[in-house]
This record gives sequence, C-alpha cells and structure tokens, in this order.
Amino acid sequence: MTQYVYRFGGGVSDGGAGDKNLLGGKGANLAEMASIGLPVPPGFTISTAMCTRYYEEGETFPESVKAEVAGGIAHIAAITGKQFGDAGDPLLVSVRSGARVSMPGMMDTVLNLGLNDQTVQGLAATSGDDRFAWDSYRRFIQMYADVVLGLDHGRFEEALEIAKEDRGFTLDTELSATDLQALVAEYKRIVEELWNKPFPQDVHDQLWGAIGAVFGSWQSERAKVYRRLNDIPADWGTAVNVQAMVFGNMGDTSATGVAFTRDPSTGERAYYGEFLINAQGEDVVAGIRTPQYLTKTAREAAGAKPASMEEAMPEVYGELAAVFDRLETHYRDMQDIEFTVERAKLWMLQTRSGKRTAKAALKIAVDMANEGLITREEAILRVDPAALDQLLHPTLDPKAPRDVLTKGLPASPGAASGYAVFDSDTAEKRANAGDAVILIRVETSPEDIHGMHAARGILTARGGMTSHAAVVARGMGRPCVSGAGSLSINARDKVMRVGGREVREGDMVTIDGATGEVMAGQVPTVQPELSGDFGTLMAWADQVRRLKVRTNAETPLDCRTAREFGAEGIGLCRTEHMFFEQSRITAVRQMILAEDEAGRRAALEKLLPEQRSDFLEIFEVMAGLPVTIRLLDPPLHEFLPHEEAEFAEVATAAGVDVDTLKRRAGELHEFNPMLGHRGCRLGVTYPEIYEIQARAIFEAAIAVAEKSGAAPVPEVMIPLVGTKRELELMKTVVDKAAQAVFAEKGRTLDYLVGTMIELPRAALMAGEIAEVGAFFSFGTNDLTQTTLGVSRDDASRFLTTYVEKGIYAKDPFVSLDVEGVGQLIALAAERGRKTRPDIKLGICGEHGGDPASIAFCEKTGLDYVSASPYRVPIARLAAAQAAIRGK
Ligand code: ADP
Ligand code: MG
Ligand code: MG
Repeated sequence: MTQYVYRFGGGVSDGGAGDKNLLGGKGANLAEMASIGLPVPPGFTISTAMCTRYYEEGETFPESVKAEVAGGIAHIAAITGKQFGDAGDPLLVSVRSGARVSMPGMMDTVLNLGLNDQTVQGLAATSGDDRFAWDSYRRFIQMYADVVLGLDHGRFEEALEIAKEDRGFTLDTELSATDLQALVAEYKRIVEELWNKPFPQDVHDQLWGAIGAVFGSWQSERAKVYRRLNDIPADWGTAVNVQAMVFGNMGDTSATGVAFTRDPSTGERAYYGEFLINAQGEDVVAGIRTPQYLTKTAREAAGAKPASMEEAMPEVYGELAAVFDRLETHYRDMQDIEFTVERAKLWMLQTRSGKRTAKAALKIAVDMANEGLITREEAILRVDPAALDQLLHPTLDPKAPRDVLTKGLPASPGAASGYAVFDSDTAEKRANAGDAVILIRVETSPEDIHGMHAARGILTARGGMTSHAAVVARGMGRPCVSGAGSLSINARDKVMRVGGREVREGDMVTIDGATGEVMAGQVPTVQPELSGDFGTLMAWADQVRRLKVRTNAETPLDCRTAREFGAEGIGLCRTEHMFFEQSRITAVRQMILAEDEAGRRAALEKLLPEQRSDFLEIFEVMAGLPVTIRLLDPPLHEFLPHEEAEFAEVATAAGVDVDTLKRRAGELHEFNPMLGHRGCRLGVTYPEIYEIQARAIFEAAIAVAEKSGAAPVPEVMIPLVGTKRELELMKTVVDKAAQAVFAEKGRTLDYLVGTMIELPRAALMAGEIAEVGAFFSFGTNDLTQTTLGVSRDDASRFLTTYVEKGIYAKDPFVSLDVEGVGQLIALAAERGRKTRPDIKLGICGEHGGDPASIAFCEKTGLDYVSASPYRVPIARLAAAQAAIRGK
C-alpha cells in the first residue's frame, strides 16, 4: 500500500531534502533539519501524492490515510508527552501547506490547532499563563474561521479593534487574560452567526478540516493564477505539514523571527533578519508591531533603539548563529529561515534557499566559491544569466522619489531620463546638440532607426514585447517601454496626454525599461558595476565555455560596448541601418529611382566612401577579430516615402519629379515584403549593389590592416539564400570585387563568403550550399518566421494566446522553437559539415542572447552565438552553463 504520511523529529526522519517532489519544499527541509540534529518540533508530512489522489477520488480521504495520520499524531504525542485533545495537557499543532516550490500566499497556516473550551483551560494550567492560553485560542479561532471556514476575517479584526478601543489600548499585547477570554466568546458568537454552526470543538474535526483546506487551496483561484504566472504544473499538488506548536508568545523570554544567512539584497556575508519578542507566527511580517533587528551591527546601522536579538537574548542568539552556519555548510547555499524561541529554547520552523537580487546572487556565488563552500563551476551555475540584465544597465536610484504617469511593458531594460521628443528627426537633431532625449512614438518603424539610436530611451503607446520598438531597442541596448496603452500621443502637436496630465516636447520624462514605468521629470540613476564580482564570475565562465560569443552590432559605439562586455567578434553587422542615415538616404533613393545600371552605379559611387568609412571604424574596434557583414537585405521600397506629405520633398532632394517617384514607389509595392524582392534577390537583380558593398568592405579592411597591422577577418554574408546557384552568383560578385581591390592596393587579405540560413529550403539544401559557402549563420528570426509561417510583426496579436493555451511553450521569437526550427538547424549543421568539415557555424538571431537557445546551440555543436551588445555577458554565462551541464 502507498505510504502517504512521513514523520520527522525526535530522532525520526522518514524523508529528507531530496524528497521535495513528494513532501514539498517545506516538508522535505523540515525532515532534513531534523535528521541533522537541529531542534525541529516533531511532526509529519502528508505527501503531494495524497493531494493528487484526493482530487482523483472526489475530494475524499481513504481510510488508510486516516490511520496513517493517527499514527503521525501518536508520533508527535510520544515525543512531546502531550495528547491531542487532552483537557489536562493538550497537544497543539500547526497545519501548513507546502508545494515543491514555494507559492507565497497560496494558503495561510493554521496555528494552535487543538484548542477548544476544555483544552484552553489545560493550556492555561500547564503554562501557568492564562493570558497566553486565551491569546492562543483567539488567534486559532480567527485563523481557522478565515482559512478553513472561509468566513469574513474583517469581522474578527473589527471585534479585536473594538476590544482594544474599549480599554484605550493600542497594542494587542496590552489585552489581559480576561479581555481575551471575552474576545474568544465574541469570536465564537461571530462564527456561529456567519457559519450557522458552533465553532468545532472536536479536535479531530478541526484537524481534518484544516487538512482538507490545504488540499482545497491547491485549486483556489489565487493558486491557479500563481501557477500560470510561474509555469507550475497543476498535477504537482501540495503537501500538508502537521507539526507540534512551539510558542513565541509565552512572555519576554519567547520570540519569533525570520532570517537570511546572508544579506539577500547585497549578498554581504552578514546575518540578516528581524524578530519580535512575545509574538507568534507571522506577526513579524504582518506589520502589527515594528520588528527588531537580529544583530547589534544592523540595529546600530539603522539607528534603531529597541535591543537587537544579539543584545536581548545573547545566548539563544549564539545558538541561532551556529544554526545559520550549520545550515549554510549543509545546504551550501544562502538560507531563508523561520525560527521561534519558546521560553529561551530555540526551535527551527523552516529553511529554504533564499531569494536574492542579481547583485546578491553574484556576490554570494563568488564568495562561496572563494570560501571553498562550492566549486567555481557551481558558482557559475548559481547565477541566472537573464538576471544579469539588471546589472548591466544604469538603474534608477532606488532612494529617489518617482512621479509615475503610467505603466507599459518592460520591453528593454535600463532606465533613462531625457527631453520628450515626438519624431526621429528632432530626436537626432537634439541629440547631436548634446541633449538627452526620450523618443515617444505611437509605434516605431524602420524609418525611426536614426531617432531610436539618437535617443536615450524609447516609449511607445502600441506594440508588444516583440514589436519593432522592443526588438530594435533591445538590440541597441536602449531602454524601452512599449505598449503603454493609456498614453494618448499626438505627434503633430508634439504632446502626449495621460491621466489628465500633459507632456510637451522638451519636458523631462523618465522611463524604466525594467518595470515599464513612465515618470514625469528626471529620476537620478546609478551606473552598473562591471568589475568586481561580475568580472570574476565572467572570467570563470570564459574558462569553461566552448561556444564563442560574438555580437550583433553596426555602429562603432555598439561595437565598443560589446567588446567591453567581452564580445569576440561580430556575428551580424546589418548594412541597411547605415543606408537610412540622413546624410545618405538621398543617394540611396537616387539609386532606387535610377532607370538603368549606369544611373544606379552613379548613385552607388556616392555611397561608396560613406559605406567604407562605416566599415573602417567597425574594423578598427574589432581589429584581429572576425566581422560578419550582411549585404543589403530589406526590400527597396522601405527606403521610399509612404506618406503623401513626404513625396514632394523627397522628389526634390532626389532630383526627380513627384510622378516618377510615385510611379516607382508603386512599382516596388509588395503584398508580402517579408517574402518579396529582398535579400540576395536584390543582389541577383542588381549585382552592382552588392559589388559596391563588397568593395567598401575590402577597401576598409585593407586600410585598417595597413594602419594597425591587425587585419580584421571579413566574413561577407549573403542573406536569404535558398539555392546553391544564388550563393554561387553572389560569391562571384564578391570575389571579383575583392580581386579588384587587392590588385589596386597591391595586397591581399583573408576573407570568407558565406550565407545566412534563414529559409527552410536553405537548411534542407545545406549540403549543396556548403560547397560554395564557407560559413553558415543561422538567422533564426527569419528562419522562425519562415518555418512557422508566422510573421513576427503580426504575431503579437495572437502569440500570447498561443502560449497561454500551451501551443508553444514560450514565444518562439524570444526562445528558439527547439523541437521544430531546431531540427532544421541541426540538420543543416550536419549536412553542411559533411560537405565541408571546417565550415563555421553560428547563430545570429535574437535567440543568440537567450539562455535556453544557447543551450541548444551548445548541444548542436555550433561554433558561436551572436547577441546584441548588452546580452553578450548573458550569452557568455549561458554558454558556460551549457558547457558544464553538457559534461
Ligand atoms: P508560509 O509558507 O506562508 O511561510 P508557514 O507554514 O511557514 O507559512 O507558517 C506561517 C507562520 O507560522 C510562520 O511564521 C511559521 O514560523 C509559523 N509556524 C508554523 N508552524 C509553527 C509551529 N509548529 N509552531 C510555531 N509557529 C509555527
Ligand atoms: Mg503564508
Ligand atoms: Mg514560512
């Protein structure tokens, strides 16, 4: 027969820390603490398997479990020497829920269970403290009525307030035994009024009521919501812990408290916590009285008066400190602890790995490795790569006041203050004049790139986490709040309104891309710390990782940032952003509007020096490192105006008449630009575009080689290839340009020509394509779009529903669809390697900065991942973790 009840305490431990799935985190750790000899009140855990069975069998308990529970109670009775329901010396217990992972607020604990009109007398007699006995009883009725009977707890609070007011008291502790006895009578009256039955006097009814309530709470609305938000499966179930009560409310030698073995916000190695004398359970966190500090140092640092535990109860404090150390060495991690002191005797009620900020996680991991408590590899695994994001961007000074206007989506982390501007040209102009600006748009489009780049931060009223604004901002490392729906933005009048307030162009605003908050005025920020513990852990990570980490960058500034963050080259340098720049867009448009090749060449000649200087700066920053440059990819109509108002101005600048411009724009119009005339299809039809780009690359590379001696290794990447022939044609164009430049300059250079794999056909034909291409870079943004048949720009309308309904586990544009798209990557890698064993393989989509996708790249044996500059450290750490886990 299945065992459902597991005992702990008094030298018995039926379970241990390894049994979290069965006993829940709380139950497993209580058993573990008991087994290593720490003072834990005896008790037992009813397993999560019982929870599952309880629901399978229509919310009933099998007879066998009733017998097991009786055995559990007998275990507690034997150790405490008290009997459950005994009027003379009653055993009281707590009933607590505990799932595999902590689910705060799922169900409140019931304390002091086992009290009734008789046993309260026994408790008073044996404790010699009437006040304590009645206080315990009134707490029990209040909790039981709320948690188990589901009665309105407001009524009980009200009665308590009235009792205090009647006597002119402010604190609960001022109420006498007689006051409390009267309050108990009043509580029982309220129960009967609301429940139509008297408060249960039979202690076994009380116990089963509470056990049922814990299992019942698993399907409560708040538990369901919590599970959904935290990806916790419904079939895990919760365990129930029944444990002998210990009392922190037995006078001035008793207390209750919570503690961390290290500071959870800074990671500093110092005990951290709070306690309250003469209190029970959650009084400490409930804010009824102001809790006292644990240590003298903390009390002094806070300038607080009431004695710390170290000062008030030095002996018990000493014992507690020893337990902290014991727990840390045992669990080899920072612990979050609950304890109670009953008449100077210490009892441990809970321990678990403590939640911590990213900063604390780093410090604790590095310190513990240096202390020899954990290995360096363990330290690497202890830090969540995604959490590093919090540390890499300037953040708002937590002490500064905030005037919050509204909240949108936290689309790209970091915080920024600046003058509000409502169009990209103004953003660029003011930024060039040295102003910090925040670009505010209803939504952004590719034409806003220069404004986004010039701005310190981006705010949009529309668009989700994968909107243009969000993706581009993350790529650029700009803070972004997107989809702030309550904003009404009027770009023409340069004003934004929200909640009856107005922000005009030039007003100071602040956005917090980590929380989505939009604030009026300037909020001071604090700069990130890249040395210290961060530097140490990253160095350890670099020693164990196999995957190289490159960056996606196209400006010298981004390249520099990425190198500071440890990038080992560029995995994707997009060239179209360069074409949008104010100084060249006219030449680009002339090229597009030209009637023949000669006209196109003339315009391209104007672009050549500009393009060359782009690459020159990038190559200088990346000297000696590989730089993958993708030739022009977007359809040409993206460079032409769409708004009637713009046509005249653009036509004049380009030197054509408005009709010609309109006609050409009409000719270039596409029904589905994503699958239209773009990528290498441009190069196939207008080879001169790629030729000039290739020429700019080689001229710049040779110039840098001549100047610094450290030649970059250009990797010319042809986009959107689906057939070997396309790549062959384009490679010929690039090779010819290279030969021409080499002949002119009288020197040669190593370079590679390869392709992006971003079409399913390219993945399938990888074996053939590798005959021509020296490298593959998996362009997983497009590969995801083309494999799923989902356009990323339109996906936000339904993808959330898809994820909610479990169709995709995660947003496939954020975390690689390993089982689908991943197959194509693995297959292409295999076929490519078969043809060309030394083919270079990398990934350059947004996924290159996502830890789960990086783990896949490690498993598939790719050579590198490429991530946006601010995600480079995340990728380095994730690559190290993947390598360690793969061992
Ligand atoms: P949560 O999961 O919300 O932390 P707990 O089950 O840990 O809930 O209990 C809530 C409070 O009751 C805690 O302060 C805990 O220390 C206290 N408590 C639980 N069981 C006992 C007990 N047997 N004796 C004394 N206090 C207890
Ligand atoms: Mg709780
Ligand atoms: Mg707890």
